[in-house]
Amino acid sequence: GKDINIVVAGMKGVGKSALTVRYLTRRFIGDYDSEMEAVYTHNTVLDGKSLTVHILDTAWQGDGTEIKEDQILWADAIVLVYSITDRTSFEKLREIADFVLSKRSDETKLVMTLVSNKCDLIHMQKVSEVEVTQFCAEYNCLFFEASASESSASVLNAFNGTCRQVRLT
Ligand code: GDP
Ligand code: MG
Repeated sequence: GKDINIVVAGMKGVGKSALTVRYLTRRFIGDYDSEMEAVYTHNTVLDGKSLTVHILDTAWQGDGTEIKEDQILWADAIVLVYSITDRTSFEKLREIADFVLSKRSDETKLVMTLVSNKCDLIHMQKVSEVEVTQFCAEYNCLFFEASASESSASVLNAFNGTCRQVRLT
């Protein structure tokens, strides 16, 4: 099938790089340079069909330049990541999502998924289920809970779920 291009977006420190690397290698590498943007290509099989995924792991600058227009146009899917321990990281996703949608006229062809990361830190949870449900309804997102540090399965589920949605779209 066709290659799938994924942009991983969200504030600095939410675990974008940890999630990306966990998906690619099944390992947790907890210490990535937050300033570094990288694109990875991954060949795999999903639901019995071969799949090539290109993942752009964005670097948060905090000034609205972290995702460029050409990257938004390149994307089949945007994975919006927040940390359950950080309310601001959830609130920022509205700005990011609005910015992304403002650059896409073919909104229906863009898949957006919401990933709550650091679910291993459930005792530090700062974002309620109601808020998440509301966000997903508003932006038409699928929702995945993940822990890059504790669970490969949760991370695979999030990326595979995103790719499945692209295939359906
Ligand atoms: P990025 O700036 O969004 O790319 O975030 P990083 O992937 O660099 O992660 C930021 C920090 O959060 C690092 O200290 C990671 O070790 C930590 N981290 C990432 N994912 C998790 C997770 O699922 N659970 C916990 N407890 N820490 C995580
Ligand atoms: Mg990073």
